[in-house]
Amino acid sequence: MKDQLIVDAVHDKKGIVVRVRTKDAYLKCSNCGSKRVSKKGSTRRTFLTTPIGCDSVRLVAQIQRLKCKDCGTIRQERLSYAEPKKSYTRRLEKYINKLLAGMTKQDVARNLGMSWNTVQEIQMRQRG
Ligand SMILES: [Zn+2]
Repeated sequence: MKDQLIVDAVHDKKGIVVRVRTKDAYLKCSNCGSKRVSKKGSTRRTFLTTPIGCDSVRLVAQIQRLKCKDCGTIRQERLSYAEPKKSYTRRLEKYINKLLAGMTKQDVARNLGMSWNTVQEIQMRQRG
């Protein structure tokens, strides 16, 4: 996550909310890898990540849409910390797979405030 800038962090009723965005120096074209890109708007997405103690932690990411000056592609940046289309971080996946060594999927899901189906999906992916 050294490529991420923490904009701020606040508590809400559900836990800790950390707003992040990719540092400009790390922005690159997700098609050809060029760093010669210009920003073309952004969207926001939320990712569940590993908890801090009993507090759940959500990353609210500002995701840049980039135009590449080399290949001309206009596309969202690729995030280093989550798989495409997933709403949780790779770090949380690793953590869940560790917990599953000694806890049931139901326990893990309840503990992390996730659905059983998501925990199942993560376990299945681990097994490949
Ligand atoms: Zn490109």
